[in-house]
Formats: sequence, structure tokens, C-alpha cells
Amino acid sequence: MDPIDKHSPDVIAFFDVDGALTAPRLTATKQMIDFLAELRNNVIIGIVGGSDLRKQKEQLGENVLDMFDYTFSENGLVAYRGK
Ligand SMILES: [Mg+2]
Repeated sequence: MDPIDKHSPDVIAFFDVDGALTAPRLTATKQMIDFLAELRNNVIIGIVGGSDLRKQKEQLGENVLDMFDYTFSENGLVAYRGK
């Protein structure tokens, strides 16, 4: 999503994964996935976590790179920009 299409394109919401979007090492609930999709309509969203991308996909979904504007894996050593 182009940032200009968001309601507040100058706001960024960044989240930890374990203990924030999911219980530690578990998968995200549908309620959380739906909330993030709605939030993304309004602000830029991203995640940063210690896990690698494979583990982040297990926890948040195979399409994790399409769910967030920014995804940081391995404590930020690897960065992806969402579509
Ligand atoms: Mg955590």
C-alpha cells in the first residue's frame, strides 16, 4: 500500500513480535491479524523481532512481508519493505 493512501501517512507503528503481537513463540490470533490489517489502512506499520524470517512467517503467516510496510528480522540485521 502506498503510504499516501493511508489516513495518517506520517505515523509509524512498530511492534515487537513475541509477547506483543503473539504469545511468545506462538502464532498470531485471527483477531490480531485483522487488527493489523485495519491499522495498516491508517498508519505505516512494521515489526522488529529477534527471529529469522522463517520463524516470523510461522508466527504471523506466510504472507508476513505483505502484511507490514516494514519487516525487520534477526534484531534488525535483515530488513524487508512490504508491498
Ligand atoms: Mg518480545
